[in-house]
Amino acid sequence: MGPAASGERPGPDAFAGPLAGPDVAGLDREHVWHPYAAVPQPVPPYVVSRARGVRLTLADGRELVDGMSSWWAAIHGYHHPVLNRALTAQLEDMAHVMFGGLTHEPAVRLARTLADMTGLPKVFLADSGSVAVEVAIKMAFQLTGRSRLLTVRGGYHGDTFGAMSVCDPVNGMHHLFSGVLPEHVFAERPPREFDEGYAGRLAELVARHAGELAAIIVEPVVQGAGGMHFYHPAYLRLLRELADEYGVLLIVDEIATGFGRTGELFGCDHAGIRPDIMCLGKALTGGYLSLAATLCTERVARGVGVLMHGPTFMGNPLAAAVANASLELLRERPWREEVRRIEAGLTAGLAPAAAEPGVREVRVLGAIGVIEAHEPVDVRAVQEVVMRHGVWLRPFGRLVYTMPPYSVGDDLRRITTAMTAAARALEPA
Ligand SMILES: *Cc1c(COP(=O)(O)O)cnc(C)c1O
Repeated sequence: MGPAASGERPGPDAFAGPLAGPDVAGLDREHVWHPYAAVPQPVPPYVVSRARGVRLTLADGRELVDGMSSWWAAIHGYHHPVLNRALTAQLEDMAHVMFGGLTHEPAVRLARTLADMTGLPKVFLADSGSVAVEVAIKMAFQLTGRSRLLTVRGGYHGDTFGAMSVCDPVNGMHHLFSGVLPEHVFAERPPREFDEGYAGRLAELVARHAGELAAIIVEPVVQGAGGMHFYHPAYLRLLRELADEYGVLLIVDEIATGFGRTGELFGCDHAGIRPDIMCLGKALTGGYLSLAATLCTERVARGVGVLMHGPTFMGNPLAAAVANASLELLRERPWREEVRRIEAGLTAGLAPAAAEPGVREVRVLGAIGVIEAHEPVDVRAVQEVVMRHGVWLRPFGRLVYTMPPYSVGDDLRRITTAMTAAARALEPA
């Protein structure tokens, strides 16, 4: 145990610079929280030493194809020369300045680009997806003077308290806090196929609560961390109509679905609708830095007036500069074709998994491939199988899934082979 861990003041060697590989694992265990984990984690994380293209290199020399895009973010792959250049160029001008009372070209250019892409002209730049969701909720509360939201089960909107309150109340990781979270209105999870009965119940629920609702908030077409569930775009159109009919705002959380992942530029595009408020994040900077945005219509912005939010690192120039470069890359790359090719590769490559006794369903949409097991999977066991095939995945619950970088190319076959092998190793139902 080091001096810091025993509560003494740190000695000079606590600031001694880079660590050798084995120290990283040991000190990680001693000091570091990981997502949804205890310290120390019962299963230690793997130490990564570099990332290039679609591959991660572990400290022990193993090379893995990244099937996760670092949680939906690294759509162009790692160490991209264009993104690297954008960052180093911005660094010469300024790494950061406060956004209160000051502005700068990278943030303004980003706001204009996002406004053009979404048709939503007013842009609030936040520092993470969860904060973008908080801002969206705040806009809706300030505008309407109401403080109740309607959402659907199976959703995920982030880990801060406002965002948690609209995550799935059961499978969400947040039931621990149920007593302190506001109680919003939850509709059933929307089905994959269009179902008149469901649509009717949804309409009825909105009608029943309309008078108290500030907004409806959903992830469009794909529910990500809440269960990797896909639903029919007609429900999104229905929610748009209901929101208009009852004068309720529609917030669409595109943090996971934005920037081409589902085969359309935005999840909303599957339904041909425009929300009143949209949240963006994850792939916004191509996976380089934490940045998110909340966009809204002219009407919402006018109605909100002074928005009571202002993160210290709002509009960070480095993050904005790399986001600008990432969006330019996206515009230039044939992402639609790439995503279609990934969709075809996932559909063909994962099909054999559907026949495995431990598998409940295989589903694919755009560059998202999901194997859903009957039972919760043993994360470490699945990882050992896929790592033997040279692939990095991070399963959760009953799901083994991938959303690779758009630049994955022929390495996609490696991912589907690994996932199929993992499916074979699952416990039968
Ligand atoms: C990841 C995610 C968030 C939260 O974003 P963070 O940057 O992790 O705070 C919110 N909504 C959706 C749909 C997400 O996938």
